[in-house]
Amino acid sequence: MITENYKEVEAKVRAAAVRAGRAPEEVTLIAVSKTKPLEDIEQLIAIGVREFGENKPQELKSKYEAVSTPVHFHQIGHLQTNKVKYIIDKAVLIHSVDSMHLAEQIQKEAEKRGITAEVLIEVNAAEEETKFGITIAEAPQLVREISQLPNVKIRGLMTIAPFVDDPEENRPVFRAMKQLLLDIKSQRIDNVDMSVLSMGMTNDYEVAIEEGATMVRVGTAIFGARDYGTI
Ligand SMILES: *Cc1c(COP(=O)(O)O)cnc(C)c1O
Repeated sequence: MITENYKEVEAKVRAAAVRAGRAPEEVTLIAVSKTKPLEDIEQLIAIGVREFGENKPQELKSKYEAVSTPVHFHQIGHLQTNKVKYIIDKAVLIHSVDSMHLAEQIQKEAEKRGITAEVLIEVNAAEEETKFGITIAEAPQLVREISQLPNVKIRGLMTIAPFVDDPEENRPVFRAMKQLLLDIKSQRIDNVDMSVLSMGMTNDYEVAIEEGATMVRVGTAIFGARDYGTI
């Protein structure tokens, strides 16, 4: 079931890219395995899937250590400074950097290990009160500040769009994110490369791709509904 679901989503990802006149290889599908057991991840590893997303640092760490084959784990959920140490040398990309304070902690832990951490800046594009992330207006300044940290490399931007019934409602949000990415890119800030735009989830990933997403984070459509009650 999970492998069939994955292939179906993958086909839709490719189709959306083609519709938008983009090369399908430009879009990375991240299978969001949060709350799901290792067996589910292993089923996808068996068919060659290598990109997984986790929300909780400890869960990322334990799955990273338990998988049969080395794969990429993305830290996509909110990250508290005291949890950075769990994932600093395990997450291939941290999608959820939304403050200088957090970036400084990432710098500290990365420097300690002699590595460079790759990060995205999380933008709360729709300015929802319940969500983490900075505003579009604040983003360029934060990017400039974080770019000063030698062991932190900004690769792009991430957003979690509002939960809506009709994914078309999020099109302007995705479009604004793409514009922000281009605006920051045009500033040619040292140590910043604006090549990644992480946006789109189960309900709206096709629209996100049409508007320029280079990474989509899909959980439910691949693994089925999550049960938060049993963990
Ligand atoms: C859970 C989660 C997803 C996946 O959500 P689905 O709607 O299940 O596809 C994507 N991104 C983030 C940050 C998440 O927390």
